[in-house]
Amino acid sequence: MRIELVNTGDELLLGDTINTNASWLGQQIAALGLMVSRHLVVSDGAVIKDAMAEAASRSDVVLVSGGLGPTNDDLTRESIAELLGLPLELNEGIKANLEAFFAKRNRAMSASNLKQAMVPRGAEVMDNPFGTAPGLYFPAKLSHARGWNTHFFLLPGPPRELKPMMEMLVEPRLRAMLPDGADRRVLYLKVTGVGESDIVEKVEKKLEAVPGLTLGYCIRNGDVDVRLSGASEPVEIGAAIVREHLGHCILSEDRRIIEEVLVQILTGRGQTLATAESCTGGYMASRITDVSGSSRVFGHGFVTYANAAKQKHLGVPAELLAEHGAVSESVAKAMSEGALRVSGADHALALTGVAGPTGGTDDKPVGTVFVSLASKGEITLVKRFYYPGTRDRFKLLSSQAALEMLRRRLLSLPQG
Ligand code: AMP
Ligand code: MG
Repeated sequence: MRIELVNTGDELLLGDTINTNASWLGQQIAALGLMVSRHLVVSDGAVIKDAMAEAASRSDVVLVSGGLGPTNDDLTRESIAELLGLPLELNEGIKANLEAFFAKRNRAMSASNLKQAMVPRGAEVMDNPFGTAPGLYFPAKLSHARGWNTHFFLLPGPPRELKPMMEMLVEPRLRAMLPDGADRRVLYLKVTGVGESDIVEKVEKKLEAVPGLTLGYCIRNGDVDVRLSGASEPVEIGAAIVREHLGHCILSEDRRIIEEVLVQILTGRGQTLATAESCTGGYMASRITDVSGSSRVFGHGFVTYANAAKQKHLGVPAELLAEHGAVSESVAKAMSEGALRVSGADHALALTGVAGPTGGTDDKPVGTVFVSLASKGEITLVKRFYYPGTRDRFKLLSSQAALEMLRRRLLSLPQG
């Protein structure tokens, strides 16, 4: 089944709005075991008509986002009516919904809103619970007069309106269009701590030898998503190969990222984590607290950027700082043990490093970071990593390495 996306909006072409609909729709469609064949992004206005025609001439399904609003440049509805030769008719149900929408908000409905109640004859209305613009579905038969056999789905542009409509109204229709008994699966194995080239070396040949399996990789925030798609049998065979060769590097098989995995494990065990950060400035704590439910496992995050702060809040001895420097194995260790003691947590992760671009030395060049993990009743671990590059990336990869140390300890995996 060939699917194309058409996104409309000047703001997308001007770069003012990132086309998040395209990436989100791409993922949703991938989850159905399909892949979007092309995107077209066009300006507001009448060009949408040519774009839809072009997409329809090649596709079974055309998904359009944007241009269903009340303003003059919202012309998607009118354009498809012209394209398919369907008269626009006032839909009393939509009109009543619009009136109710405005009455509830105590706002007067303007005449321009009424154009949202116009429906090309034969199209099915898809309700929009979060806005005024309903979506429209045009079954393929409406395009036969043009010599196509194309289903059109028209959705509003705002992501908060588009997403629920896609999930509730479009995806069930797409699923129903897949060939009978279509058995399609997509599995994402999130692999951490190994480079793409290592993954290729370890599993690629074996995976390519599985008939009916499609393989893809995507590097994402320092991890690699190995994507396996096809019928369930080849996907399961492929997954078994990845598990066998990359076993303990697999973070999740459901796209969860490491902070989500950790919060879940810690919650399950009733354990807590504290953080002590220098070079990452609280970034690791921020990642953890991005996870809903993290308050059950995370109570203390220390940002001790200055030496004085390391001494005062974590009890790092002044002599240690003077002798080894703030970026050192022994200071990282003292930070994690200090955080463990002060917080009373079960585990404490500490980070100290040189983010750069200045401050590097010969033996500790920019990008050097020491990560330490202290846990109640266990030996404190310290590792040294090297992540040269931008400060953003340094923070990301350093915190990733720290979180991975904890994951391995919690799951009794080799720290390797
Ligand atoms: P529209 O339905 O074209 O009037 O879209 C209205 C709102 O949705 C604007 O705030 C747009 O910035 C936003 N929007 C439209 N298309 C997209 C898109 N492809 N990705 C993200 N936001 C979008
Ligand atoms: Mg618009």
